[in-house]
Amino acid sequence: MNTKSAATTERRKLSIGILSRGPSLYSTRRLVEAGRERGHTMRVINPLRCYMNIAAHRPEIHYRGEKLDEFDAIIPRIGASITFYGTAVLRQFEMMGVFPVNESVAITRSRDKLRSLQLLSRRGVGLPVTGFAHSPDDVRDMIGMVGGAPVVIKLLEGTQGIGVVLAETPKAAESVIEAFMGLKANILVQEFIEEAGGADVRCFVVGDRVIAAMKRQAADGEFRSNLHRGGQAMVIKLTPEERATAVRAAKVMGLNVAGVDILRSNHGPVIIEVNSSPGLEGIEAATGHNVAGVIMKFIEKKARPHNTRTKGKG
Ligand code: ADP
Repeated sequence: MNTKSAATTERRKLSIGILSRGPSLYSTRRLVEAGRERGHTMRVINPLRCYMNIAAHRPEIHYRGEKLDEFDAIIPRIGASITFYGTAVLRQFEMMGVFPVNESVAITRSRDKLRSLQLLSRRGVGLPVTGFAHSPDDVRDMIGMVGGAPVVIKLLEGTQGIGVVLAETPKAAESVIEAFMGLKANILVQEFIEEAGGADVRCFVVGDRVIAAMKRQAADGEFRSNLHRGGQAMVIKLTPEERATAVRAAKVMGLNVAGVDILRSNHGPVIIEVNSSPGLEGIEAATGHNVAGVIMKFIEKKARPHNTRTKGKG
């Protein structure tokens, strides 16, 4: 028997749950398909329909009248709007010993842009110079601190490029910041990486490797390259430094699967975001890679009871 078929016969058949509210979403469908192709039992679970028994030493999860105790692994695909409940459900699975592809603690961390940047900066990962202030009295000084206009102003709660504004002059920067502060919105102010030319690089990290990467180029007259904002995706070759930066960023955040967004700056690759539920559609279409299949192989290697860093303690 050759080694390949030996590996196939020996592969453990796993029961894998996907925590997702959208069974028909591309990413969810692809994960189901890739798992079934590899012989696993796949089931999509709506996290908002899970209810929990938190009695001492017997963590349980119930779902539409049934006790869920069959899973070897869970793939969390928890939308930003349900982070609180979704991560509580995931934590309960972790306490039951189920292997989470990304741990609840890491997801919670990555959902807070400011906390993420603080964690990354502490570990020396390249970032755009970034400021954060509370009082309008400190705005002028903070703009100077990040290098002066032009600056990018970001709402901490924004996603998909909404709430990301480019202020080209000091006056514009001050008025936008004051307006956001007046609305009690939390914002961060960042050096504008003009030399990125409206492009960013999405690195898809699984385990300790970048398994696919694409460049996203903003539409004409736009600096935000989000595909939802009309950006175009294309394949690119990463430099070794970009690869290392992306892997390190995912590691610092404690994420096994991550979409790490990088800008190419004059001072090397800088991280703008680490996403814990990166979409599969854009990256699979742009690169032709079977990203869902790689995630399955990672699960096959890692799924063992209680194989987490925090065991839901975080
Ligand atoms: P979101 O999480 O809403 O997508 P991002 O911080 O990723 O917000 O910003 C959206 C887009 O704006 C990025 O993909 C990038 O193209 C552009 N961008 C963000 N920060 C900067 C910056 N400091 N300099 C230049 N362009 C930026």
